[in-house]
Amino acid sequence: MPGYELFGAQERKEVNDVLETGILMRYGFDGPRKGIWKAKELEQEICRTFGAGYAQLTSSGTAALTTVMAALGIGAGDEVIMPTFTFVASFEAVLSVGAIPVLVDIDETLTLDPKAVEAAITNRTKAIMPVHMCGSMSQMDELKAICDAHHILLLEDACQAIGASYKGKSVGTIGVAGTFSFDFVKIITCAEGGAVITNDEEIYKKCDQYTDHGHDHAGKDRGADLHPYLGYNFRISELHAAVGLAQIRRLDEFLQLQKRNHSIIANTLKKVDGLTFRVIPDPAGDTGSFVSFFLPTEDMARDAVAGFAAAGIGGNFYWYDNNWHYIRKWHHLQNGSWMHRLHDEQKKQVMHYSNQAFAVSDAIMSRCISSSISLLWDEAQAQERADKMAEVLTSVITKNLVKG
Ligand SMILES: *Cc1c(COP(=O)(O)O)cnc(C)c1O
Repeated sequence: MPGYELFGAQERKEVNDVLETGILMRYGFDGPRKGIWKAKELEQEICRTFGAGYAQLTSSGTAALTTVMAALGIGAGDEVIMPTFTFVASFEAVLSVGAIPVLVDIDETLTLDPKAVEAAITNRTKAIMPVHMCGSMSQMDELKAICDAHHILLLEDACQAIGASYKGKSVGTIGVAGTFSFDFVKIITCAEGGAVITNDEEIYKKCDQYTDHGHDHAGKDRGADLHPYLGYNFRISELHAAVGLAQIRRLDEFLQLQKRNHSIIANTLKKVDGLTFRVIPDPAGDTGSFVSFFLPTEDMARDAVAGFAAAGIGGNFYWYDNNWHYIRKWHHLQNGSWMHRLHDEQKKQVMHYSNQAFAVSDAIMSRCISSSISLLWDEAQAQERADKMAEVLTSVITKNLVKG
């Protein structure tokens, strides 16, 4: 799955360019930086690679989400529809601008169920935020149609799906804007970093300002910049951008390896009777970072997780028990455990939406295991892992069928 597995000479070279000048900041110092602009270069490379008009780097994927929410004017009282299965950063960002995350069920794509989305729309809904989980994509045609019909913004959390596409378009470029994360375990990494991509110049400009205390970046002198809006500091450093620049140039190489190993695992597991697979809206656009599959029952899924552990097969995620990726364990959100005081109305709404029953999501997630794909396996190693996994799964399923 992650680019960190292949960190090497290219990354060191890019970082070294920055170390040679000592200019670690992305803005200013035009003379001493001797033409080295890693963050700018990475933004251009992001636009080129994903076919986006504009890219704004940030200090993290979470910062990218917060930034784009602000740039889209999402704020107090606005509702943002998002899935029950995502990383906590998605709702953190909604909360950070004073808005309300409205959680809705997923379906067997492990992403937003368009019917559940439609049912959750109110007159306060400002945006729908699909999350392209585990390297694959949401049902974008359906979600876009809903957004168009209701005049709602479509914002893509593509943090986990760098390089995925839907019907030929890179994820993140289908809605009004999208976000990537380059944290250490993402498809490509900067160590810590993120980006907003969009085709809308106004949104981009606002993101550019928001991430740097509102600087309009209009002139050469930072001290003389104007501040049309309030902003914060979500800047990326040149050192981080340098790592990302090396990694994005290797994205094709990463994806090729990942897809090859993904096919080996998926093709072998497909022969296991009783196992079903995550529905992928556009299989050609899958990055192959995970193979996600469903056991017939929750008990069998738990047996399989234990079986993998006993057989020493790592990298299998049972999200249903995970504290960070699924609503069931987001007690801090459900209990309203904030460090600081929220507006009473916001807190009430947030707790209301996060304490609904999610029986449909539970029925899916309790049977689901996602197996991560390494870039480091050669074909024989991938096949060996696939065979071991198939053996565990077959034994779990046949044992339970015999038990009846
Ligand atoms: C990783 C991730 C983020 C946040 O990215 P960071 O760079 O870790 O802040 C947001 N959304 C999803 C779905 C993620 O997986």
